[in-house]
Amino acid sequence: MPFCPKCGEEVGEGFVFCPKCGQSLKVEVTPENTSGQGDSAIVPEEIKGWSWGAFALTWIWGIFNKVWIAFLVFIPVPIFGLVWAIILGVKGNEWAWRNKKWDSIEQFKDTQRSWNIAGIVVFAISVVALVVIIPAILIPLFLF
Ligand SMILES: [Zn+2]
Repeated sequence: MPFCPKCGEEVGEGFVFCPKCGQSLKVEVTPENTSGQGDSAIVPEEIKGWSWGAFALTWIWGIFNKVWIAFLVFIPVPIFGLVWAIILGVKGNEWAWRNKKWDSIEQFKDTQRSWNIAGIVVFAISVVALVVIIPAILIPLFLF
């Protein structure tokens, strides 16, 4: 005989709600955690989406998330590095889920949230460097 998970009351088979407290007795269908299983891993929809960490930190993010193809960012072809960073931003979360064993979707999202914050900071610094610092160095060179 199963027991109510809320009040502990013994309930008969076939009950949808606990007759004592009204708790739903339907078994929560949690999808199996297949992270780390490579191509056979099922990627949960909720982890997909843009990864600032993968985009801005590329190979550093790749080491910690076992996404070794992040190192392709070093291929010395003009523009390729930037294109690869964008691909990492798009596909990074999915690859990280496939390549590394995660405890849960929540743990994955918590970890990637930290990476995203770091990625946004690095990206912002890069933009500031491009827009402010480089002209600040170059303009005086042309003026004097
Ligand atoms: Zn109950």
